[in-house]
Amino acid sequence: MSANPSVAVPTVKLLINGEFVESRTKEWRDVVNPATQEVLARVPFATAAEVDAAVAAAKEAFKTWRKTPIGTRARVFLRYQQLIREHMKELAALLTAEQGKTLPDAEGDVFRGLEVVEHAAGIANLQLGELANNVATGVDTYTLLQPLGVCAGITPFNFPAMIPLWMFPMAIACGNTFVLKPSEQDPMVTMRLVELAVEAGIPKGVLNVVHGGPDVVNAICDHTDIKAVSFVGSTKVGTHVYNRASLAGKRVQCMMGAKNHAVILPDAAKEPTLNAMAGAAFGAAGQRCMAASTLVLVGTAREWIPELVAKARALKVHAGTEAGTDVGPVISCAARSRIEGLIEAGVAEGATLALDGRNPQVPGYEKGNFVGPTIFTGVKPGMRIYDEEIFGPVLIVLEVEDLDAAIALVNSNPNGNGTAVFTQSGAAARKFQDEIDVGQVGINLPIPVPLPMFSFTGSRASKLGDLGPYGKQVVTFYTQTKTVTARWFDDDVSAHGINTTISLK
Ligand code: NAD
Repeated sequence: MSANPSVAVPTVKLLINGEFVESRTKEWRDVVNPATQEVLARVPFATAAEVDAAVAAAKEAFKTWRKTPIGTRARVFLRYQQLIREHMKELAALLTAEQGKTLPDAEGDVFRGLEVVEHAAGIANLQLGELANNVATGVDTYTLLQPLGVCAGITPFNFPAMIPLWMFPMAIACGNTFVLKPSEQDPMVTMRLVELAVEAGIPKGVLNVVHGGPDVVNAICDHTDIKAVSFVGSTKVGTHVYNRASLAGKRVQCMMGAKNHAVILPDAAKEPTLNAMAGAAFGAAGQRCMAASTLVLVGTAREWIPELVAKARALKVHAGTEAGTDVGPVISCAARSRIEGLIEAGVAEGATLALDGRNPQVPGYEKGNFVGPTIFTGVKPGMRIYDEEIFGPVLIVLEVEDLDAAIALVNSNPNGNGTAVFTQSGAAARKFQDEIDVGQVGINLPIPVPLPMFSFTGSRASKLGDLGPYGKQVVTFYTQTKTVTARWFDDDVSAHGINTTISLK
């Protein structure tokens, strides 16, 4: 936390009722470049009055936005997707500066969000009700998918472009208004995306942004004028948000932490499988909720460990802005200390440190939060490195004898975000997809994040709430189904006598 902002460092603005405004708070936090420790901006922790003002603006704007024609709503997102494309390089540079991931991966972050914006532009085909004609004589039943009102989104640091874009475009396209609370660690690219959304034509009050930490999140959970909350972040905070917002009567979806197991069978295509593993374990410095952080080697696949270690060792650890970087810094000094502490715990608990990525040399970026690719073998459930989400470039390796044992291991882990199997056997892959109790399954694909025509899923401790972000599920999440049963009397009213039964006649 820092003192009131000085003139030299820019401040991150709130968006309330169409105006980008300076917060009146006394609490600010530095937004820091994780490769250099340069302070890029200061982000406010909004006051309770500012949260109220954002919600009030959204509530007022809902009165007209909910009645805005669906084609008009869709065209805002057609313009928006074009603006995001035109600003892709600028957005990626901003994202890399504050988050640390490599420039190509930052473009990927924006692009995966852009795909949801494109999907939102197709809202006219998504928000369709159903109709049954003549459910009784002269009676039709049909459904309306009506927007809920003010919705809110709370986002994590690791995808500061994609995850906000999972939320507000689909909510707003459905006719809702929105209050977004971005991660306080890297809010700048999110705000640039919000500026572009306003430029694309989102009317004043329809999208609002407040910044902050637990107090702002709690205010969102408690606010009686907010109807739905979408949260993405850690399991601890997500569980708190789910309980608190549900208790306050809101619809809630929480996408949370993970421990994604990748299972390699001995018949897998070795070279592409090991390349996929190195990319999926260490890309984005392991700070992806779908990172393949836990490798399960079946039978003789355990002989591939030295080659995997060699591939990991060859990855270039450097600033995300440097050409050829594979692994950038982790988000903060605190994250680096936490990851290094878990590596120490792994050693103390008896796992074998096959590759130690601590304290890598990164010339020109000596102050950066770097941890290089790290691999533990001989890992067992019960060790902290297995039981906790490390969320850094650390791959843990377990060995089992057969596919049944691998499936049992994955299913006994509490998390259910993503998993993958590598094999050339269709029968083995089919058994895995059928028996595995995890929301998102990859077959010879390490990070199976679905495109927006599907919904992001997840199960067990990785998700609370029935419906996932984007895809068809999110239209259900952001709308209330209303069923209308209608009869229009014809001229012969004498044909309609008194009916005292439950049946429609
Ligand atoms: P986080 O839970 O620390 O923060 C998420 C949001 O909650 C932020 O906006 C933050 O300001 C707020 N917050 C933090 N502490 C809070 C508290 N005590 N009370 C109320 N609000 C609080 O998560 P993070 O570190 O930003 O992101 C990493 C986590 O997110 C990892 O666990 C990762 O697996 C998870 N994640 C999950 C998915 C998914 O789809 N399942 C996607 C991305 C990230």
